[in-house]
Amino acid sequence: MGVLAACFGIGMLAAWNPLAARVDHQAYDWMSEAQPAPAHDALVVAIDEAALRARGEMQNIRKILVEALDKIDEAHPKAVAVDVILASEVDPADDARLEAALRVTPNLILPVELDTAGQWEEPAPRFKPLAKAIGHVHHVVDRNDGVSREVALEKVMGSRRYWALGLEAYRLAQGADIVESPDDIQVGNTLVPAARAEGRPMRIRYLASIPTMPLLELTARREELRGKVVFLGITALSAAHDRLVSPMGESVSGVEVHAHIYETLLAGRFLTDVKDSTILAVCAGFTIAAGLIFGFLSGWAAYATAAPLLAFAFYVPVLFFRQDQVFPMVAPAAVAWLSAIGAATYQHFVVRRTLRRTESEKSRYQQAMHWAAHEMRTPLTAIQGSSELMSRYKLPEEKRGQLSEMINSESKRLARIIQTFLDVERLAEGHMDLKRETFPAAAIVDVCMSRVTPLAERKRISMSIETPVDGTLKGDRELMEYAFYNLLTNAVKYSAPDTRVRVRADLRGTELRLAVTDEGMGMDAKELKNIFQKFYRTKRAEASGEVGTGIGLSIVEQIVTHHGGRMEVASTPGKGSCFTMILLAQSTTATHAETADR
Ligand code: ADP
Repeated sequence: MGVLAACFGIGMLAAWNPLAARVDHQAYDWMSEAQPAPAHDALVVAIDEAALRARGEMQNIRKILVEALDKIDEAHPKAVAVDVILASEVDPADDARLEAALRVTPNLILPVELDTAGQWEEPAPRFKPLAKAIGHVHHVVDRNDGVSREVALEKVMGSRRYWALGLEAYRLAQGADIVESPDDIQVGNTLVPAARAEGRPMRIRYLASIPTMPLLELTARREELRGKVVFLGITALSAAHDRLVSPMGESVSGVEVHAHIYETLLAGRFLTDVKDSTILAVCAGFTIAAGLIFGFLSGWAAYATAAPLLAFAFYVPVLFFRQDQVFPMVAPAAVAWLSAIGAATYQHFVVRRTLRRTESEKSRYQQAMHWAAHEMRTPLTAIQGSSELMSRYKLPEEKRGQLSEMINSESKRLARIIQTFLDVERLAEGHMDLKRETFPAAAIVDVCMSRVTPLAERKRISMSIETPVDGTLKGDRELMEYAFYNLLTNAVKYSAPDTRVRVRADLRGTELRLAVTDEGMGMDAKELKNIFQKFYRTKRAEASGEVGTGIGLSIVEQIVTHHGGRMEVASTPGKGSCFTMILLAQSTTATHAETADR
């Protein structure tokens, strides 16, 4: 869950940086291939290079406009938008002629622009009243890639506000008013989703082309203008100060962009940005889907199911675009991929961890079984041997008594081994409540010593208790006995004949140290580190021919730590070892006092 949330967060963050924005724009451009529909109404009359050359370049622009307007007017277009700023009066004679031409132009729209000082450059006073509408000609280009994708339908500076030239042309052509509300503007039946708070942006849907009539062909093709909305402007590269790049990567002049804006309004299909909450919801959907896939499936099934999901993440923007909605490309893709990778990685580790756990449990159990079988073999052999003797031979009463005694004690030992095995298993799994008996430490030392002495005698190893054993222990007597017995048998097992094994007890405060010192083969530092690991045996021990499973000490350590104690080992190879059990204890006298108090 945490992993998925993190992937979602990182994916969303990754989708909110300039690079991602660029990719989103690229995707938008790729999706917004030009609408194949032909222009309906708009037509550009282009003052191109040829026209400028033929008419004496830009100083004659007013004369050129007069010529163009005269011819345009004769064709009775629906509206005429002029994309040449007429802010100043230049030559009285030219201006007078221009004024006359503008006066007879139907539905005239003149341009207004902000100058470098941030002031509106309105048409000169003699031209301004002739216009039915004045529209701004500012373009919005993307800061990163210079592509013109949208238009600010409204532009406010100081106390004045102008609508875009294309919008004004549309309004006049429709013969309608602009009705505004905070979220959109309405022209006739057309509702344009362009919120005031954001500067009323509208995405331009570029057509494949806008019919363009070069100025010099105007006389011959004049009739084509009839009933059209004409955009008159400069397209010559040398003179136009507003050449832009369309999302299709084509160079377009400003006047053409105004015509595209007009056609966008006319088509009435507007692209809007998807709400942030929708983006979040869709992306969260991808995260959840990735989580479910890797939660319920694994291996190839999971990857095979995730693949279409990841592909679908790229397809989501296309689906939205078909509904005229702009959905970012990076956000769903980043979130889906990161979530899938995150979930897959997590799954991988979880699977591996459980596999490792079950494997180690299995081997632990197998080894424990091995140990139990090994430990049980000795008493079983004794029982088998004794019972065979008793049934085969007619033995004297005394010998029979001894043998049945032996069978009895060995079967008890067998029972004890089984009990210990079960206890140790439960101890390892943490399912064991330790018994809380109170008993003198001397009791377990004595029992174990007497049990080990016969073994020691076989190797002529002398066993001695060097100090009186004081102190009372609390815990599981059976297990403690097992632990101490193990230390003693190891000392005997790993010592050469004719050596000594000594036991020392030392009670300091609440700590009882029970030390078993031998003069055996010993261990080096590296071996010492491993001896409490299950099934570890030193090379020396293996070579000595002494049988063992390597499990005893690990059980000893578990028992001791479960009783709140710890183990200490000191050893020198070839010289001997000293294993010390450090246990919590009370001095026997204190315990007596306590008992007496009660
Ligand atoms: P086992 O005796 O069955 O091999 P243990 O867990 O009791 O298993 O001991 C683990 C290993 O530690 C032994 O195999 C031996 O190599 C080493 N070891 C234990 N006690 C001694 C000792 N007193 N002297 C030398 N080596 C010892």
